[in-house]
Amino acid sequence: MKFTEMKIDQRILKALHEMGFIECTDIQARTTPIGLEGKDLIGQAMTGSGKTAAFGIPLIQKMEPKKGVQGLVLTPTRELAEQDYAEIVKFSKYCNVHACTVYGGVAIDPQIMKIRNSEIVVGTPGRVMDHMQRGTLSLRGIKILVLDEGDRMLDMGFIDDIRKIISQTPHSRQTMLFSATMPDPIIHLARNYLKNPVHIKTQSQISEHLLKHYYYDVRRDEKASILKHLIDKEKPHLAIVFTATRRAADFVDRYLQSQGIESRSLHGGHTQATRTSILEGFHRGKPHILIATDVAARGLDIKNVSHIFNYDVPNGPEEYTHRVGRTARFGKTGISITLVCKEDHPSFQRIVRYMDIEKLDLGAFKPTPTRSMHSYEDRGGFGHRGGGGFRRPRRRY
Ligand code: ADP
Ligand code: MG
Repeated sequence: MKFTEMKIDQRILKALHEMGFIECTDIQARTTPIGLEGKDLIGQAMTGSGKTAAFGIPLIQKMEPKKGVQGLVLTPTRELAEQDYAEIVKFSKYCNVHACTVYGGVAIDPQIMKIRNSEIVVGTPGRVMDHMQRGTLSLRGIKILVLDEGDRMLDMGFIDDIRKIISQTPHSRQTMLFSATMPDPIIHLARNYLKNPVHIKTQSQISEHLLKHYYYDVRRDEKASILKHLIDKEKPHLAIVFTATRRAADFVDRYLQSQGIESRSLHGGHTQATRTSILEGFHRGKPHILIATDVAARGLDIKNVSHIFNYDVPNGPEEYTHRVGRTARFGKTGISITLVCKEDHPSFQRIVRYMDIEKLDLGAFKPTPTRSMHSYEDRGGFGHRGGGGFRRPRRRY
């Protein structure tokens, strides 16, 4: 199916055409027309299949210029807010529709100015609520609410915020939820916020011939040395190495640099300015190895990521799907490699139930143990602990 076969505004079609969007993907073909009809929907499709356009097109088409904020897109991370915003700006190039971003870690005043001139706000829940409380963002005119990475937005870490935000929007709004993963309990919960949603589920995992999954059985204290070896062996064009905690990310980053590999870490412990500049650099291949917490697990669309390394095994099959989905996007190929140590077997078992992951062995390679590995890992994950107080348990990346 082509975009021209849908009831899409000529000005959006022109922008899509310029972007090289001619044929639609499966999820676009099946959800965009429903979105255009104004119906609530849950759209589930594999990573890198163009879900942003699937909701972005109906969103832009429904906006009335100069009538205040009518569209709200919520994302779990600032980086994804920025990316969705950039895509929406491209789609709306020829429409008189304006969007802005609203997320924490950056100055609030410029956001206040931009909200005044925007029909669409793309943001993370914390800062959106901040604006609501200050009276600088009114959600009374919201016609369309999108929860990108919707299963994440409705899980424990965000649900309280989402509930508050939704309570300020009109009941008449259209709500759309998109993600590659949609666990049953979340679909159930979503029904509290969506009106008779149409649930469209397309292929949810990347085909095996495009994305290869491998793992190595390793010893905990040898992981850093093995990762270095695998990077030398695989020579990734661009790679993301996922760790469980900020501290582990920094450790791996320092270790790789000490071994002469150009890398940077990306996690919530950096200032937003640093996060932004590291991610921009990585888009240009400088550095070509990014060590990240799950802050980078969802939604990010970075061209030419050839390898995903799970230095630490992800929490479950959903997070695995999102992490490895940073490669093999939109028909490209990719490789995912997971390091599994004895202690990880229970969580790894839950993942292999859904995924064919082939075991490899290190052959003649003799890893070198690193002592400092123990010093942070024996105390368990740091990233998920602190920040307590009376606030809800928000996941710290
Ligand atoms: P998802 O949200 O499903 O993970 P994205 O919306 O990030 O996927 O899209 C993945 C990539 O594919 C992006 O670079 C996007 O610009 C591109 N893309 C999406 N739809 C099309 C299309 N119909 N034609 C060409 N490129 C597309
Ligand atoms: Mg997406």
